[in-house]
Amino acid sequence: MREEESYMNGFRQSKIEVAVVGDGASGAILCAQLLRSIRPDEIHVRWLGRSKKFGLGLAYSTSDPDHLLNVPSKGMSAFENDPLHFLNWVQARDKKASPESFLPRQWYGEYLSALVPAGHPSLTVHPDDVMQIQKVSHSYQITTRKNETHPADVVILAIGHCLSKARFGRRPSFPLAEVDGQARILIVGTGLTMVDTVLTLGRAPRQNEIVAISRHGLLPMVHARHDGNPGASHFRKIIHGSKPPTLRQAFAAMRTDCAEAESRGGDWRSVVDDVRPFIPSVWKSFSPADRRQFLRHVVHFWDSHRHRMPPEVAEKIYYLINSGRLKIKKGRFTSLVEEDGSWTVNWRSDTHELRRERFDHVFDCTGLSRDLGATDSPLVRQMLRDGLLVISDPPLGAFPAPEAAGLEVLGHLLRGEYWESTAVPEIRKQAAAIVDRLLKLLN
Ligand SMILES: Cc1cc2nc3c(=O)[nH]c(=O)nc-3n(C[C@H](O)[C@H](O)[C@H](O)COP(=O)(O)OP(=O)(O)OC[C@H]3O[C@@H](n4cnc5c(N)ncnc54)[C@H](O)[C@@H]3O)c2cc1C
Repeated sequence: MREEESYMNGFRQSKIEVAVVGDGASGAILCAQLLRSIRPDEIHVRWLGRSKKFGLGLAYSTSDPDHLLNVPSKGMSAFENDPLHFLNWVQARDKKASPESFLPRQWYGEYLSALVPAGHPSLTVHPDDVMQIQKVSHSYQITTRKNETHPADVVILAIGHCLSKARFGRRPSFPLAEVDGQARILIVGTGLTMVDTVLTLGRAPRQNEIVAISRHGLLPMVHARHDGNPGASHFRKIIHGSKPPTLRQAFAAMRTDCAEAESRGGDWRSVVDDVRPFIPSVWKSFSPADRRQFLRHVVHFWDSHRHRMPPEVAEKIYYLINSGRLKIKKGRFTSLVEEDGSWTVNWRSDTHELRRERFDHVFDCTGLSRDLGATDSPLVRQMLRDGLLVISDPPLGAFPAPEAAGLEVLGHLLRGEYWESTAVPEIRKQAAAIVDRLLKLLN
């Protein structure tokens, strides 16, 4: 149990100082929800982040119109209790947008940037890199790269993906327009980040030949409209049973549900979508051993079914595959060496043959790290060292230490606790719970 009483006792008599660290979608959604709920004389919100433009973060800073949301617009509101908030905002600019549309991610970035009212009397915005957060008596002191310090009674960490250096070549955030249109390209990873990269590098008049390799060679499945029936009845039954299910039981129930759905002319997607809201609680009830088993044996299968491509994106990807410009391969690297501006890659195929190929560019699209302990973030390293954050088991993320009253965390950092913790439906729910806790302390 967190020591809420003691951190309440430590509050100043004047406004409560709340610091939101992180300027991506999580920070924007949290600030928007908080500013909607408070009176200006109650709380002062300091929003700190290192980006030039707040609210976009990793996912929504793209300007490529082919990069679409992978969730229909009806699922992307920043407010759980106002589910059409994003759709209504979009329809004011594009009447054709429907609840089922997969809209450009750039539009969603614009929505997020507009969410937090500039000039709100309770808000100050601080573009700076947060280097340290230290506990000082009952409150916190934040130190930035510019060596400024900020006091805070409550700190909310919304620092997102904590990407470390690329393990293979470069991250796809490298300006892809600079890549020669004839260059031969290797992409490591075959998930949605690979799909984004291919959409940009595959577009005419470019003629790049692209090879994408992953251990299982699984592409994301494609979204298809379904009416939500049948749901995951076996899965629901076992999670509501007297004992929490093991990984094996949960997965077996889901497979049965999918098989039954397909045999009745339904769609496995209705089962996966029905299961998804239960994942945080099911994951929490799994033993660390089961969580590790999931990461070793199930995650690639789950990810390809859960993180799906919009149909219009899939059409472009399959066109490139069918025309021979994109090759999806299954394999593992044995070495990858850069010399004289090109890369020599040795890899072993799924049939155990050793292959050697040369590429002009290598992009690391392997996604999120599974070891927060190896993060490059000085802030996270310091907070782990000082015992303010505790690393999860397995080390996918971290959570506030019981002694760190007044420290809140949302989004990607909670992946170790909930697994499903990085998409907007989970982020807005976590943000609402944090705002609720803050309001309770005020009353
Ligand atoms: C390519 C891509 C597409 C996606 N598409 C969808 C989708 O369609 N639908 C959906 O629901 N979800 C989608 N997601 C999931 C997505 O992760 C979330 O929706 C959201 O972007 C997470 O935002 P965040 O703020 O938690 O993290 P981030 O986007 O990583 O933002 C964190 C911000 O904090 C800043 N920061 C970090 N550390 C510090 C520090 N020490 N000091 C100051 N600033 C700091 C970072 O610079 C960054 O700007 C997608 C994710 C990706 C990567």
